[in-house]
Amino acid sequence: MENKEKISNVENVVIIGSGPAGYTAAIYAARANLQPLLVTGFNSGGIPGGQLMTTTFVENYPGFPDGVLGPELMDLMKAQAERWGTNLYESDVVSINTDSHPFELKTLEGTIKSNSIIIATGASANRLGVINEDKFWSKGISACAICDGATPQFRGEELAVIGGGDSACEEAAYLTKYGSKVHLIVRSEKLRASAAMVDRVKANPKIEIHWNTKVNKADGSEWLEKIETIHSQEGKGEINIKGLFYAIGHTPNTKFLGNKIDLDNKGYIACKSGRPETSIEGIFAAGDVVDSEWRQGVTAAGTGCMAALATERWLAEKNLAKTIVRETPEPEKKLNSSDFNEEEVNEDTFDSNSEWQKGSYALRKLYHESKKPILVIFSSPSCGPCHVLKPQLKRVIKELDGAVLGVEIDIDKDQDIAKQAGINGTPTVQLFKEKLLKKQWQGVKQRSEFKEAIKNII
Ligand code: NAP
Repeated sequence: MENKEKISNVENVVIIGSGPAGYTAAIYAARANLQPLLVTGFNSGGIPGGQLMTTTFVENYPGFPDGVLGPELMDLMKAQAERWGTNLYESDVVSINTDSHPFELKTLEGTIKSNSIIIATGASANRLGVINEDKFWSKGISACAICDGATPQFRGEELAVIGGGDSACEEAAYLTKYGSKVHLIVRSEKLRASAAMVDRVKANPKIEIHWNTKVNKADGSEWLEKIETIHSQEGKGEINIKGLFYAIGHTPNTKFLGNKIDLDNKGYIACKSGRPETSIEGIFAAGDVVDSEWRQGVTAAGTGCMAALATERWLAEKNLAKTIVRETPEPEKKLNSSDFNEEEVNEDTFDSNSEWQKGSYALRKLYHESKKPILVIFSSPSCGPCHVLKPQLKRVIKELDGAVLGVEIDIDKDQDIAKQAGINGTPTVQLFKEKLLKKQWQGVKQRSEFKEAIKNII
């Protein structure tokens, strides 16, 4: 649904946030025939889909005995919410007005009115602020090992992760797939990660733990080459590394609330213990934005469910619910919710007119022979932001009636091409016309940015 179409009506409920709390709230509200509008978030508060988009295997979400990739789990939740009639709105909420009812939510595009709100905006990864952090950001320093670990510059090199929680341990173990050695830099003398995760890290011969150590400074020329560390007793030291990854916790995403809703002393939304009601009647909260303690996908989903049920009751009590009538009691099942199971094309399967193909063969053929512009997305298998961006790019190509052709390169498989293209993180998108690189983007961007750049060259 286009964002513009949604502005004007008064919604039953607007859910802000697209992590497990937001999507679970949406599934419950949609099944209650409330046709919720879910604002996915865009720039502020991390990528749509939340923190699980930057995780590899989630081994503790019930129902997946062999584990499930974080981005895949979020694709499934999203598909389930959409199947039951949730409308998605790709934007950020920048402020809310709670002085009158219906509430008003200001987004990047306009204002939405709603009788109730569920806030499920989660928490964002913290930055450390070491000396030269800005200089080496994306040139060795990253906040997401899972997204960027596969980039060519990290292959066979020494790398470091800062932090002592589950994220740090998971990322250190993940990076041993690519780096020759991983230094785990812990500021205290203990890891706070779960016992299973600690065991995994301690058993990995490629991980060296530096206890009681802080990082002070990043150094290098064009790319990160070393860090200066400070040990609590031994003082300054140096470690030569090509990659530094932060896993130092999160801050709740409540900035857009101003002082409209009560927060606790850590900045999380204050709700009564075990309840989703906030300090404002009709506004509910769920997930990590209220939870500084448990912070699990499954607890977020649980509180999302509670928030939706409480909202449904409140709307009914106030006689505000406008329920939809379904044509059929059970919506159609979507069997292929994942966009990521495509095959690489080869000599036999390549099609010069296909709007979207995968692999180096397709890229070489199109690069040398196509008169149309080509949009190349460099992705890696567990990169959550790539899951967000790929359907957006496909939509851009469809909306431009195939005037541009899309190719996906998995940098894990096609290391040489990634190196030649100078890729240092995923997703990276390059736009070519007749062998010339016209524009490059790193990270998730609005569809309009890609569209405009393509329109300028066709
Ligand atoms: P976290 O548990 O808050 O851990 C943050 C870590 O960063 C702590 O070890 C902390 O040190 C350290 N830290 C904070 N500020 C620092 C600084 N300025 N310098 C150096 N170190 C600093 O965050 P998390 O690991 O992202 O986990 C968040 C939640 O998600 C947790 O509930 C976790 O269990 C969950 N999670 C689960 C999985 C999984 O099950 N697969 C994976 C990832 C996350 P101190 O210990 O000294 O405070």
